[in-house]
Amino acid sequence: MNVSDKKCTACGGSSFVQATDFINLRPLDKKMAIGSERIYTICLDCGEVASIHVKNPEKLLK
Ligand SMILES: [Zn+2]
Repeated sequence: MNVSDKKCTACGGSSFVQATDFINLRPLDKKMAIGSERIYTICLDCGEVASIHVKNPEKLLK
């Protein structure tokens, strides 16, 4: 994923790192669902989370 054209809304920085906490997001009504990993895009300069990306959104439907 290319994040080089992103700008931090908090500090204007353009250096980002992507990370995940390996906790899957699950549909509210389906606690047993596998769900999908979240990918955080974090500003390296100030730590602002620029975006939270769900890797496989379709898995939240099953
Ligand atoms: Zn920043």
